[in-house]
Amino acid sequence: MKPAPFDYVRPTDLAGAVAALAAPDSKVLAGGQSLVPLLSMRLAAPSLVVDINGVPGLDTITEVGGGVRVGALARHTAVLESPLLARVQPLVPAALAHVAHPTIRNRGTTVGSLVHADAAAEMPVVLRLLEGSLDVEGPAGRRTIGARELFVGPLESAVGPDEIAVSAFFPALPAGAGVAFDEVARRHGDYALVGAGAVVDGDRIRVGYLSVSDVPVVVDLTGVAPADRADAALEHLDAATDIHSTAAYRRQLVRVLTDRVVAVATRNATAQGGGR
Ligand SMILES: Cc1cc2nc3c(=O)[nH]c(=O)nc-3n(C[C@H](O)[C@H](O)[C@H](O)COP(=O)(O)OP(=O)(O)OC[C@H]3O[C@@H](n4cnc5c(N)ncnc54)[C@H](O)[C@@H]3O)c2cc1C
Repeated sequence: MKPAPFDYVRPTDLAGAVAALAAPDSKVLAGGQSLVPLLSMRLAAPSLVVDINGVPGLDTITEVGGGVRVGALARHTAVLESPLLARVQPLVPAALAHVAHPTIRNRGTTVGSLVHADAAAEMPVVLRLLEGSLDVEGPAGRRTIGARELFVGPLESAVGPDEIAVSAFFPALPAGAGVAFDEVARRHGDYALVGAGAVVDGDRIRVGYLSVSDVPVVVDLTGVAPADRADAALEHLDAATDIHSTAAYRRQLVRVLTDRVVAVATRNATAQGGGR
């Protein structure tokens, strides 16, 4: 199937891109790794595609106070291979290594993945777990959306239809804290059947889950006995049966992955001089 007809513009500055996006029924094109398949399957049929790849200065990865800011055109590969992120917030590359295949990562953007808000994607749960944020620009100016408010439903983020996400902020890992990420997929590079990331910071244990509920879910497991952690997490999750997995198998994966990521994050925290 081919996409329905649409108009296409490629503005050369951010103001021009925001102005173009004011047209009704328009869509931003970043890496195209999610939008183009949706167009081709006619699950999306915008009248206008606003390609932001001609806007300069959006592909940066920079250290800012307390974390790392990733620009809207930074490709997954650049983020995955960034020495800055490896040092300041290693959960980001740990999770990105599970995103698709190199060809898709070479083109797809980390910010695009956050806007796309797929509950089966890795970056949304990482931003939620780290309590990061997304900066967006629209006709009313710039605003910051916290990760807690960003993911509102399946494939639905709080970014308005007339707004362009310009960057994501990933807070730094506190000294002595440890992180871990793991997932189970049918084949390497496939979307996960279930994935989990953990942050252990002193006594505080938080675990985030992807591909279990309609949105990424983060559960605070601080103070929960190790044997009870998975049950405590499952109380907040909504495992369902679909063509990829039964709900029972997803719950089993939650059990296995919870234990695994908390153990590894605790080990990593201990190696950093923190942990329990
Ligand atoms: C075969 C295949 C396997 C994949 N596997 C995985 C996987 O395992 N895990 C995973 O997380 N992802 C996976 N992806 C998706 C990939 O990570 C995409 O790159 C990502 O979801 C979207 O980024 P993009 O830059 O390609 O966005 P696009 O496809 O260009 O856009 C996606 C959506 O976000 C909007 N958007 C994008 N950027 C902005 C912006 N700056 N401002 C406002 N709106 C914006 C678009 O309008 C569109 O609605 C896979 C894709 C393919 C094709």
